[in-house]
Amino acid sequence: MNNKPISGHVLPRFAGIATFMRLPYVALPEANDIDIGIIGVPWDGGTTNRAGARHGPRQMRDLSTMTRNVHHVHGIAPYELANCADLGDTPVNPVDLMDSIDRIQRFYDQVCEQGIMPLTAGGDHLLSLPILRALAKVHAEPLGMIHFDAHTDTMDRYFGDFEYTHGTPFRRAIEEGALDPKRTVQIGIRGALYTAQDKDWGLEQGIRVIEIEEYMDLGPDKVMQEARRIVGDGKTYVSFDVDALDPVYAPGTGTPEIGGISTHDAQAMLRDLRGLNLVGADVVEVAPPFDPSGNTALVGVTMMWEMLCLMAEVISKRQGN
Ligand code: MN
Ligand code: MN
Repeated sequence: MNNKPISGHVLPRFAGIATFMRLPYVALPEANDIDIGIIGVPWDGGTTNRAGARHGPRQMRDLSTMTRNVHHVHGIAPYELANCADLGDTPVNPVDLMDSIDRIQRFYDQVCEQGIMPLTAGGDHLLSLPILRALAKVHAEPLGMIHFDAHTDTMDRYFGDFEYTHGTPFRRAIEEGALDPKRTVQIGIRGALYTAQDKDWGLEQGIRVIEIEEYMDLGPDKVMQEARRIVGDGKTYVSFDVDALDPVYAPGTGTPEIGGISTHDAQAMLRDLRGLNLVGADVVEVAPPFDPSGNTALVGVTMMWEMLCLMAEVISKRQGN
């Protein structure tokens, strides 16, 4: 029997201890029968400007009580298809970035070795690096990625020679062979650059960068046709930086850029991931101090819900159901 969220008809959805999607909390050593692990990374040590995403997972757990059991468009009922649990938060060290990366990495190594597909709530975007490392290791190949963001996060260094910030994870992942740039597509890119050369490295590696102007011209359906063509049938990670959205919809983030994607379009695009060979996903950069209403956290967990449905379908098909 798969885990099910506590019914809102038994315990009101505002009551009880908040876990992701009202699923049971299962400690990682006891998670051997879990297919999809929902994980918080309460950490923003890679943030270069306005910090606060360390508070994301707790508020996203709270707002995740708004989700229910059956998707209203495609009808997928994820908890019927896969055994899901809240695996808690990864260990972090708020005063040591490199130690945090190691701790996060060890946690995801264990998740992957146990065959659990991770769905993560951040935290700043640097946390995608240890996740991609762990996934690429267990799958023994570089992954493709569909990346929603205002920023490419393929910068090289900050403050002289420092290589690890939330502006660098995908450059490091490509250099390390965890990510295949030719199977990577970035959607929603916009905002002023540090230098005119900021974009060049990713394009030289073969990343397909769909800037917001092209996105607005094409519309979400055609953009996703292109994204699906680029990642193909191969193993694919989905990384959703909430600042891909217009700050009208998601003001609670550290590096907002105006002129972004609407929540409705983002949901439509995530539904277009259906049938892809998904291996994991994250939603990052929800920073509650900039949106005490909780709306940005609600937006973030609703994007997680969209991805959870499709990940559960992937699990179910792999298990031959
Ligand atoms: Mn980002
Ligand atoms: Mn961003």
